Amino acid sequence: MDVIRLLPDSVANQIAAGEVIQRPASCLKELVENSLDAGAHTIRVLVRDAGKTLIQVTDDGSGMSATDARMAFERHATSKIRSAQDLFSLRSMGFRGEALPSICAVAQVKMTTRRADDEMGTLLEIAGSQVQRQEPCQCATGTSIQVQNLFFNVPARRRFLKSDQTELKNLITTFQHIVLVYPQVSFTFAADDEIVYDLPAGTHKQRIENVFGKSKSKLYTSQLLEIEQQTELVNIRGFVGKPEVASKQAQQLFFVNGRYMRHPYFHKAVMQAYAGMLPAEQLPPYFIYFDIAPEQIDVNVHPTKTEIKFADEQSIFPILAATVRAALGKFNVVPSIDFLGGDIEIPVSDERMRANAKAPELHLTAGYNPFAQQRESHHVVQNERVTPHWQELYEPLKQPQQAELPHEQMTEALRPQTVAGGYICCATENGLMLVHARRAHVTILYNQLIDQLHSHRSASQQLLFAEQLTVSADEQPVLEALLPDLRSIGFELERTSANGYDITALPSVLGNHNAETALRAIIARVADGQNDVHEQMQQRIALTLAQSAAIPQSKSLNETEMSDILSRLFALPSHRITPDGKTVVILLTAEDIARRFSV
Ligand code: ADP
Ligand code: MG
Repeated sequence: MDVIRLLPDSVANQIAAGEVIQRPASCLKELVENSLDAGAHTIRVLVRDAGKTLIQVTDDGSGMSATDARMAFERHATSKIRSAQDLFSLRSMGFRGEALPSICAVAQVKMTTRRADDEMGTLLEIAGSQVQRQEPCQCATGTSIQVQNLFFNVPARRRFLKSDQTELKNLITTFQHIVLVYPQVSFTFAADDEIVYDLPAGTHKQRIENVFGKSKSKLYTSQLLEIEQQTELVNIRGFVGKPEVASKQAQQLFFVNGRYMRHPYFHKAVMQAYAGMLPAEQLPPYFIYFDIAPEQIDVNVHPTKTEIKFADEQSIFPILAATVRAALGKFNVVPSIDFLGGDIEIPVSDERMRANAKAPELHLTAGYNPFAQQRESHHVVQNERVTPHWQELYEPLKQPQQAELPHEQMTEALRPQTVAGGYICCATENGLMLVHARRAHVTILYNQLIDQLHSHRSASQQLLFAEQLTVSADEQPVLEALLPDLRSIGFELERTSANGYDITALPSVLGNHNAETALRAIIARVADGQNDVHEQMQQRIALTLAQSAAIPQSKSLNETEMSDILSRLFALPSHRITPDGKTVVILLTAEDIARRFSV
């Protein structure tokens, strides 16, 4: 006797439903995407009990004929593709023709639909794949679908659902991901008769503000920088947050061809662009939209899957990183944005300001640390490799040029003052600026050392008497691997025994700081990050050395030194935080000050 039997449709649908419809949020997604595919301008969502008892989606889209309304619930019935070939040029959200049959297999569904030219619409009721009722009805143009009692006939699945709170959160997240792609469509979302979102049609920026501007982590469009890059392979546009609005729970969203996606690899590219700009553990918000030829991404993506495969990820990574970096760069070379306390868009003249921000003195000062005192003279000779002329180096100190200072608006006679505890305070047109002197110095030295590591142009001082360094057996290979980079920044080491080295030259920035301590700190830092790529290793070296060489917090500074720190700090592309994420500059605007004096 033959044993193989075809499953009845209702059973097959229920099995398929398990894949497509896992929770109220997946049902909502399918319904709203259908409305968008139908060209709707207005979409209203209503849920009850976190979607467990009701999910209703009403649109003013194309509507369906009576026959199509019936067909829509058949498996693999779709109006969106006709052949396998169409799969490769897919532009609609749905295409599998699986959503409606899956939903009606596991819920009680009621639909009304009418096309604009039809006098009467169609009412259809289906429960557990069985059509209960189909008749003409009066209804508005468009389609309204009510999904009641999801998983009413699959108790195991119903039990599998999370608390109402969690399921509602899922519904809202799903909704957010969709509305952020369709700012030209107006949406409402009501949960148990309470309006959660009422989003008018508008621009992308307005949509982002309408969705997140009222949330706990208020996000305003003035905090977002626009990005835009068109290449043959991919178009990238969207918004990235200014570094100072980074938070622990930032919205970080990617979309491709109108669809939300997760992409850990591209996330890395964005984070790389922010390198050195973010306080520890803080994440920048971003909303990045990719447009790419459909054949460049995996079309057969599973309906519930949000990770999407790109054919050429390796090429997109640097494009993305550079695009974000450029937006941040434009913003960062213009510290006046913040001095003015306003929410100014990127100034048009940023190219000019960027040119100004690069103080010409910088190339002279490689290896120069005004705070590292000369070693006692019997101890030091200048290395011929570089000949820093001290006069030249000090020249800019004597006449700090106003043009190098953060911006034109800074008061003419800028007179920085030190404040107890190692802070530099100065008046700006719009308030007060406080700079953490040691951290500023660390940041300056770090950037200088990174430059040297990249350019192999070190400034070092020879020691008359070598200093000894003894390392342990496990430190030795770490040190050996570091030698080329150490040489790039001015160290010279000669191996004298299995674990012994002679230090014969030092980076000038170190002054009379202890070379052995600095080297040990570098070895320890680098050993911590064994799997780092070379770039990160260099960053660790530069940071450790900068920390060893920078002025102590308690140091009191004269006016020249303060001006020097300020002009060099603000010549850097990024100066708000140290490379390890600590605050360097605090701005107190006139408003902040007024607020303090309000009582
Ligand atoms: P898919 O979206 O993959 O085509 P669905 O099962 O989600 O499959 O929908 C089946 C078909 O029903 C769609 O192709 C479309 O023709 C029609 N349809 C579904 N929802 C709507 C709607 N809101 N307005 C107009 N047509 C719809
Ligand atoms: Mg669909």
